[in-house]
Amino acid sequence: MTEDCIFCKIVAGKVGGPPLYQDDEMTAFKDINPQSPTHILIVTNQHLASLNEATEADQAVLGRLLLLAAKLAKDEGIAEQGYRLVINNGREAGQEVFHLHLHLMGGRKMRLMG
Ligand code: AMP
Ligand code: ZN
Repeated sequence: MTEDCIFCKIVAGKVGGPPLYQDDEMTAFKDINPQSPTHILIVTNQHLASLNEATEADQAVLGRLLLLAAKLAKDEGIAEQGYRLVINNGREAGQEVFHLHLHLMGGRKMRLMG
């Protein structure tokens, strides 16, 4: 756990309620400021600031993030109508929390850029 990282604190159960999903490698929880009816964040339990820090050792967990997103989309009932997965990587992309996370958004029609 990295001190002062809000997502590390959520993974450790020190902030927020019970996560939607958690296993040894990943945690999923609701975005505090949802941009769509379903807006879930999926994070690696291990602190990785961004994709820039990922290595081949992270290959499996990065793949599992996508599989978990698909599972949660099914659980939320939005798999068929469609959903969007977003990673904001770096400052100019709008990354605000520097702990790698995947946004799972759905439940409304998306435009190209939002
Ligand atoms: P990003 O801009 O890709 O770094 O996204 C960060 C996301 O984290 C934003 O959508 C925030 O609403 C969300 N967020 C920040 N703090 C919390 C928190 N304590 N619990 C849940 N979501 C959070
Ligand atoms: Zn962290």
